[in-house]
Amino acid sequence: MASETNARRYTPATAEAAAKNAIRGTAESTAPVILSVRDLAVEYKTSVGWMQAVRGVDLDIRQGEAVALIGESGSGKSTMGFALLRMLVRSARISQGTAVYRDRSGKEVDLFGMKDKDFRKVRWNEIAMVFQAAQNSLNPVMRISDTFYETARAHGMTDRKAVRDKTIDLLKKVQLDAERVYNAYPFELSGGMRQRVSIALSLLLDPQLIILDEPTTALDILTQRAIIDVVKSLRDQLDFTMIFISHDLSLAAELADRVATMYAGEIVEYGPVRDVFYQPKHPYSVGLLNAVPPIVGEEFTPLTAIPGSTPNLLRMPTGCPFHPRCPFATEICAKEDPPLVDLGGTHMAACHHHDKVTKDPAVWERMEAAG
Ligand code: SF4
Repeated sequence: MASETNARRYTPATAEAAAKNAIRGTAESTAPVILSVRDLAVEYKTSVGWMQAVRGVDLDIRQGEAVALIGESGSGKSTMGFALLRMLVRSARISQGTAVYRDRSGKEVDLFGMKDKDFRKVRWNEIAMVFQAAQNSLNPVMRISDTFYETARAHGMTDRKAVRDKTIDLLKKVQLDAERVYNAYPFELSGGMRQRVSIALSLLLDPQLIILDEPTTALDILTQRAIIDVVKSLRDQLDFTMIFISHDLSLAAELADRVATMYAGEIVEYGPVRDVFYQPKHPYSVGLLNAVPPIVGEEFTPLTAIPGSTPNLLRMPTGCPFHPRCPFATEICAKEDPPLVDLGGTHMAACHHHDKVTKDPAVWERMEAAG
């Protein structure tokens, strides 16, 4: 048990402890694991020292799976995505851990150990990312057709007709008026249309794994709905593996097979989406569920906020990092950081009181009222 705790904290885990604590891919799936992350830690340099944004994360993703990383801003979920694509800002560094990726030919590569020139063949060809508010990242002075062609050309595809055919096909797949959008400039499209274009662009080189970082941020609720439907439909047609990053557990429930809830740089709950959504065992997952209005359903659901704010990553609380905000906290929570334990059926949670956790919003309202 102690070694499991250590693996969650920001300390190098032994191979044995890491293997024991590893987040396993779906038990029902026999598809090969294509991404295996072990003991990943990422830090940002600040004026007062290194700030640990991702701390000892283990994660396995199987071919064809959709895994959602859920958490508030600053939980480390987007940092993980950028680390996997080696696109961290200059002030950040991967301070420990490995990420072994199995490419489409079945060859395994160490994402963090590869030379830059070799990694360029992985980025976009094998693993692509749709960025937060990606609709604003399209070059405003390039037609959509040129953006697609230049992206393809940078990766060795120079046959204009082949690129055009592929682009038109993808624009149709994201349910756009393909011919019109192909010849348009980004400013001629709505935010939702530009986001669809960005999703289509990420698929241009047939990547095996796509990381979608908050793909519905800054979009109205109807457009969010449309984007979620597009992603679902693309997965049905193209069968890619997906990491979906969001703060919204109800959106994740629509798209993902598995959910990993992240808090203060660690995974605090992981499991099949039905388990985490309907029977969450970590109070933070419950807080996220209670804080966001569902985009489906007929009944009005009162919302409750998670009290307090995310911890200062430079001065983490003792014990469980969530204890200052948790309505279920007891004395032990301030002293001991709970290990991530297997609750059965690949559902895991890091909470001393996982058996007492309830979705009852009244529990949160009482804490909110108490200030
Ligand atoms: Fe809350 Fe304690 Fe569980 Fe942490 S360990 S989530 S403080 S009940």
